[in-house]
Amino acid sequence: MSDNCLFCKISKGEIPSDKLYEDDEIFVFRDIAPQAPVHFLVIPKKHISGPSALAPQDEQLIGRMMRVGNEVAKREGVEQYRVVFNNGEQAGQTVFHIHMHIFGGRSMTWPPG
Ligand code: AMP
Repeated sequence: MSDNCLFCKISKGEIPSDKLYEDDEIFVFRDIAPQAPVHFLVIPKKHISGPSALAPQDEQLIGRMMRVGNEVAKREGVEQYRVVFNNGEQAGQTVFHIHMHIFGGRSMTWPPG
């Protein structure tokens, strides 16, 4: 837990969220400002500020996040989806607790803006 981290507080239930999945390591909830019909966030409960702060011991955790995200996407009725990790302000990161966005339910354009 990092003091004043929004996503640490959400994963501990201190701030309400629309939870889709939880286990010992991972918490999944709907994005509050969805950018697609299905848009949810997969986070580790462990505080990691972003992709560039990942350590070798986090590799398995990130793999689990992808597998859990895929299962939740299926449950939400999307087999095709986009996965985004923003790393740093210039890339659009606004919450500095690593999170995997999963977007689905509409066609996507490429490249992203
Ligand atoms: P990023 O811009 O990649 O850091 O993404 C942060 C995401 O968190 C944005 O898509 C926000 O809409 C989302 N967000 C911020 N606050 C909340 C919240 N309280 N509950 C759910 N999603 C949130």
